[in-house]
Amino acid sequence: MATIFSKIINKEIPADIVYEDDRCLAFKDISPQAPTHILIIPKKAIERVALAQTEDEGLLGHLLLTAAQIAKKAGISETGFRLVINNGKNGGEAVPHLHVHLLGGRALTWPPG
Ligand code: 5GP
Repeated sequence: MATIFSKIINKEIPADIVYEDDRCLAFKDISPQAPTHILIIPKKAIERVALAQTEDEGLLGHLLLTAAQIAKKAGISETGFRLVINNGKNGGEAVPHLHVHLLGGRALTWPPG
């Protein structure tokens, strides 16, 4: 399904891109929930983690390792950060293109709402 994130990948609409390689793209969330709020998305249009396939195993790992590298670059690796993947209606998913939220720069509460 073509989403707003496909348009960001294809550079049809602008985004504040912080990292890009052949498999993924990372950009600042338009509505940040923490001082650092970056979305890491695969270029492959996987709708949500529940629909990822065995063949996506390496790509999923790449998203997490990339998030950790971006956290380091953003200076929040030592203080701590949270990675979130919302899946489906009850998970709070709004955009049906898999994305990892990287949140940090402040103490985050638990449990989530
Ligand atoms: P979800 O609720 O699906 O896990 O998260 C979707 C995220 O995408 C939200 O945090 C929302 O602020 C962000 N978002 C939605 N549309 C855009 C957009 O056009 N540009 C950017 N940079 N972020 C977006």
